Amino acid sequence: MKLDTKYMRYITQEDWKVLTAVEMLSKNHEVVPTKLIGQQSHLGGSTARSISALAKIGLIARLRNAKYDGYRLTYGGLDYLALHTHNNKSAVYSVGNQIGVGKESDIFVVASPTGRQLVLKIHRLGRISFRTVKANRDYLRNKQGGSWMYMSRLAALKEYAFLTALREHNFPVPEPIAQSRHTLVMSLIDAFPMRQIASVPDPASLYAELIAMILRLAQYGLIHGDFNEFNILVEEKPDAEAKGGVALTPILIDFPQMVSVDHANAEYYFDRDVNCIKRFFKRRFQFTPTEAGPYFADARKMIGKDGAVRLDVNVEASGFSRKQAKELEAYMKSVGVDGDGDPNAPRADLEENANDDEEEDEEDEDFVEEEEPEAEPVEKLEFRDDVEYTTDKLGNTVEVLKTLSVDDKT
Ligand code: ADP
Ligand code: MG
Repeated sequence: MKLDTKYMRYITQEDWKVLTAVEMLSKNHEVVPTKLIGQQSHLGGSTARSISALAKIGLIARLRNAKYDGYRLTYGGLDYLALHTHNNKSAVYSVGNQIGVGKESDIFVVASPTGRQLVLKIHRLGRISFRTVKANRDYLRNKQGGSWMYMSRLAALKEYAFLTALREHNFPVPEPIAQSRHTLVMSLIDAFPMRQIASVPDPASLYAELIAMILRLAQYGLIHGDFNEFNILVEEKPDAEAKGGVALTPILIDFPQMVSVDHANAEYYFDRDVNCIKRFFKRRFQFTPTEAGPYFADARKMIGKDGAVRLDVNVEASGFSRKQAKELEAYMKSVGVDGDGDPNAPRADLEENANDDEEEDEEDEDFVEEEEPEAEPVEKLEFRDDVEYTTDKLGNTVEVLKTLSVDDKT
């Protein structure tokens, strides 16, 4: 899904108040009555003007059915609110091009006010339900209206909490920078997913390192749950000591499916993580380890070893409660998001999704924007006159990073 920031600078303080009011009221109204938006935003007469401006650019959508006068927040509206917060907290200054389209997320390169390149991950749980799980779609719409917003927020919260905990204990993961609503900001890892690597000089040592990482996670009470070649980025550094002259460092990403070693299905998730790596190494590098395992019993023996703290317990106590974990897990199951762990399963990470927008529009059947937005959204490599392009370090043509609302901080 697109993230078109071009209207950001035109949004007034009053518009933000109204948008925030719609967000707050969405928590217990599937469609927010127009009257309530006015009351909540305390703006009196100018509310109507803001509502109309926000609907015009698609940040809120009006119920088509005239019997009921109300609006709901759109994905775009929630994206803008999150970006606004990141911008106000000086986490994000500008937004660049999209580098990943996952099953449940969109990934963008962004920059901090000092020009540091970062990654913005936007969770889009529920999107999959509109795409592929038709039966669940009605279930979700009727019984859990607006839950995509809540569940996507839970996924971002969970990911941020684990990223923070893992980073504190020196796991090779991106640096967490900020979190807002359904998004998080982290450092950009300058490396390719293992999926894109054709060959390595020393598969045995990379394999050993990955298995060690799986066991070290267990030592701290955790199972990644989606440990596969898409979620491991491999950094290359010249190193005279290493075989082939390059040292490879795997960096682990993507944490919404992380489970505790005490989870009822812990063994299943552990085995799946291990087997995913084995299968990939066999297929891609023709590498088969001499030893069988590791098995979950081996992992259990590691728990707490050398005084390792239980990060599953810590995160539950501080950043992400057990209740939230259960809610998120149930939802992920209901929409068929459960880290299939199958490298052959179709993944959008590396491919364009041509029908993306068409299918998403289904969600909007009952809603209509007040007017069609006048310009088409920016697609990844569709050239436009009003956008500047440059060449990135991989030789791809990319959009020049666009500055968010600079005059907004008044
Ligand atoms: P999903 O849950 O949708 O799979 P991921 O967190 O795995 O989302 O991100 C999708 C893709 O985006 C990754 O496979 C990777 O190529 C890229 N990516 C994500 N985070 C980063 C990062 N911090 N640095 C560099 N690339 C990243
Ligand atoms: Mg992933």
